[in-house]
Amino acid sequence: FEEIKNEDVEVANAIQAEMERQNSHIELIASENWVSKAVMAAMGSPMTNKYAEGYPGRRYYGGCQCVDVVENLARERAEKLFDCEYANVQPHSGAQANLAAMFAMVEPGDKILGMNLDHGGHLTHGSPVNISGKYFDFAAYGVNDEGVIDYDKVLEVAKEHKPKLIIAGASAYARTIDFKRFREIADEVGAYLMVDMAHIAGLVAAGVHPSPIPYAHVTTTTTHKTLRGPRGGMILSSNEMNEKFNFNKAVFPGTQGGPLMHVIAAKAICFKEALQPEFKTYQEQIVKNAQALCKGLQSRGIKIVSGGTDNHLMLVDLTENNVSGKELEKRLDEAHVTCNKNTIPNDPRSPFVTSGVRLGTPAVTTRGMKEEDMDKIAEIVAMVIADEANVEKAKSMVAELTAKYPLI
Ligand code: PLP
Repeated sequence: FEEIKNEDVEVANAIQAEMERQNSHIELIASENWVSKAVMAAMGSPMTNKYAEGYPGRRYYGGCQCVDVVENLARERAEKLFDCEYANVQPHSGAQANLAAMFAMVEPGDKILGMNLDHGGHLTHGSPVNISGKYFDFAAYGVNDEGVIDYDKVLEVAKEHKPKLIIAGASAYARTIDFKRFREIADEVGAYLMVDMAHIAGLVAAGVHPSPIPYAHVTTTTTHKTLRGPRGGMILSSNEMNEKFNFNKAVFPGTQGGPLMHVIAAKAICFKEALQPEFKTYQEQIVKNAQALCKGLQSRGIKIVSGGTDNHLMLVDLTENNVSGKELEKRLDEAHVTCNKNTIPNDPRSPFVTSGVRLGTPAVTTRGMKEEDMDKIAEIVAMVIADEANVEKAKSMVAELTAKYPLI
C-alpha cells in the first residue's frame, strides 16, 4: 500500500477510504466476501505481467513454464474440490463462464430455458439486455406463490418450449435446488442441463448444499462469492462432455484472449483453502448465520420470501412495510449496513424501486460473527425498516458490532 501511496495519492486515498468503509460497515451483500491475505497477495503478484494464451503445455507465447504450474494446480484442485473430471479456470468472470458454456453447447437462435430474472435468476440467463437474451431464444420458469421453484411447472414449461438447454441456478433464491429433478426434466424433453452454481459454490464444495456435478452436463460458477476466492469464473464437466463440446476452445479463442494468470494463481490458493476441514465449518456457519438472521427478522414481524432459507441468503419481503427496497437500501447504507434492493416474486414495484432487499451472510461469517451477532443485525434492520428516525441509533449499534470484529 505504501508503494501505491508514493506513486498515486488519489488512488491510494480511494483505497484507504474503501478499506475504512469495509471495516466500519456490516456487509450483507450475498455475493460478496473477504479473501485471505494469500489470495489477495497472489492477485497483486508478478503473474499479472504474463501473456499465456492457450493452455498449459500448449501456449502461444514463450516463458509460460511458471504460469503453467499454477494453472495446472488450479485445475487439479478444482477437480478434486468438486469431484469432477474437467475444469477450465480461465473465465474472467461468471458472465464469461456462462457465455463460453452457451457458445459451446448451443447455436445462436436456439431455445434455452432459464429462471426468470424477477424471480431470482441472473442477467446472463436470458435477460434481453444481456448477450444471452439477444443471441438466444430464451423462455423462463419461476417460483410459485410460496416463493419456491415448482418443478412440475418447470417440466410443463420445458415441454411447451422444447429447449435445447435448461439453466438451473440463481442469484436470489434461498432454497435448496433439486439438481436431480432438473436433470430428469432435461432428459424428458431432450435438453442439456447447465447449472450455474455461482452463489452456492462454497456450500457445494463443503457438502452443505447438494452438488450439481453428478447431474449437470456442464456446471459454471464464480470463484468470489461463498467460495471466497478472487473475482473470476470457472467451467466444470465430465471428460465426455468436454470432448463433445470442447469448453477449452469456447473460452479461448472462443470468447476470451489471454488468461489472467495472477487471478488463476489466486484461484489455486482459494481451492487449496477450500479443501481444508475449516472450510466446511465456515460454510456451515454461513448457513447457521443466515438462519439466525432470518429467524431474528421473522420474530420481529418481518416477512421473508418462501418463509426462510436453506443457504447463505434470504429475500426480505417489504410489501407489508411502509418502505420500498430502494429506500431501505439507502437507509441501511446511512446506518452503515450494506445490502442491495431486490425484486421479490410478482413484485408490484419496478426493478429500480423493488419491494425487497437481499441479505446474505458469507462476508459477516468470514469476519467471525456468529448467531448472537445475527440477532443484533436483525434488530438493526428491523429498526430501520420500522422508522427512518432510527437510523442514527442503528448506526451506533453497527459501530459497536464492527469494533468487536476489526478488519484493519
Ligand atoms: N451467475 C450468477 C448466478 C450470479 O449470481 C452472478 C453474479 O452475481 C454471475 C453469474 C455473474 O458473475 P460475474 O459478476 O463474475 O460476471
